[in-house]
Amino acid sequence: MPGAFHDLAAEKLSVAALRELQSRELSALLETVVASNKFYKAKLKAAGIKPGNAAQTPLEKLPFTTKLDLVEDHGRHPPFGTNLTHALAEYTRCHQTSGSTGSPLRWLDTNASWEWMLKSWSCIYHAAGVKPADRICFAFSFGPFLGFWSAFEAGARYGALCLPAGGMTTVARLRFILDNGITVVCCTPTYALRLADTAAEEKINIRLSPVKRLIVAGEPGGSVPETRARIEEAWGARCIDHYGMTEIGPAAFECEKKKGRLHIIESGYIAECLKRSKSEPVEPGEAGELVLTSLGRSASPLIRYRTGDLVKMSRVPHCECGRSFAALEGGILGRIDDMLIVRGVNIYPSAIEQIVRRVPGIVEYRVEVSTQREMTELKLQIEPSAQEPNPQALQRQLSSEIEHVLGLRIPVELAAPGSLPRFEMKAKRWIRQG
Ligand SMILES: [Zn+2]
Repeated sequence: MPGAFHDLAAEKLSVAALRELQSRELSALLETVVASNKFYKAKLKAAGIKPGNAAQTPLEKLPFTTKLDLVEDHGRHPPFGTNLTHALAEYTRCHQTSGSTGSPLRWLDTNASWEWMLKSWSCIYHAAGVKPADRICFAFSFGPFLGFWSAFEAGARYGALCLPAGGMTTVARLRFILDNGITVVCCTPTYALRLADTAAEEKINIRLSPVKRLIVAGEPGGSVPETRARIEEAWGARCIDHYGMTEIGPAAFECEKKKGRLHIIESGYIAECLKRSKSEPVEPGEAGELVLTSLGRSASPLIRYRTGDLVKMSRVPHCECGRSFAALEGGILGRIDDMLIVRGVNIYPSAIEQIVRRVPGIVEYRVEVSTQREMTELKLQIEPSAQEPNPQALQRQLSSEIEHVLGLRIPVELAAPGSLPRFEMKAKRWIRQG
């Protein structure tokens, strides 16, 4: 029964009760790590925090953890690094980060820390309206990335029938979805669109399939209204975004009442939104870097982890859904390093995604970033669908949409059908030249 597995009470806590819970759990976490976790023992010591005072130290006095800290630690202590609270023999699972921002990191979990993550996943299924009678297809190649395994196992614990769809072509996956009467598909937003495009090519009407929900993650697109609308239109189903990372776990899910708003699972995480490379919070309404502390994954925790993800975070004491969890409006806006200032205009990757997805007939795109005469410049390549009768019209339409929305002229080039890379995992559409 999902009722037993999913902790609904934690989602109904008031802001005050959440703060109290977080403070208690942070204190317990610090007490645990300072006793036996080499990585955090050294970090706290370097920050001048005495072991006896660690548990009482307020969050804002704790040092940050960066990806670079972890990479260096793994380099010095291969293969697993020293962010381990228990003896190695107690760990039962090893996953790996995607390595999209450097070398992949191996991340270990004990049965207890794994269980904690599955419970966080149950918040996502609950918000998505998944029921035990649902059949969930996981349209991924099951590699060492944590998301597949945690989503799959949490789905099974939640009571749904879970079907892995690794090692298949896109056409085979479509048949698998139809043949098994799948009602929920987990994939990236890009892959949801690719499945839909392939269905159209194969003359399969997926709107007639029993799929009612697509739970997406891994890219900014899931909370971009235009991308979501395209997915929902193509599938005749609801699209629900969520957010997580191998090293942090599943941390946020889309509100069922307010589309495009991701709620941080604040009963399990502490979230901060800070200025880029700084320790102070952003002004209200400004975008900043999401910094997360995982409270229940004490076997391999992260304290004040600089995720590198750009968000606009707000406190919504009483969202329409009844939760008081912090809200990320518009979801993940992109990577903080991808936020650009082009001729004085702030541009997030999600803004470009939003405009491109507004123009029907574009199946894939790529953004080239270059520096010319010390100015950042962008160039867009778009790939029209093979059936598109007038690609030049799309090109003109997109140029004028960009100029209208951003007040900038950005060159738009046409790419031949099938020439731009397709992505099953995190899409890499932003390319730096020079
Ligand atoms: Zn809500």
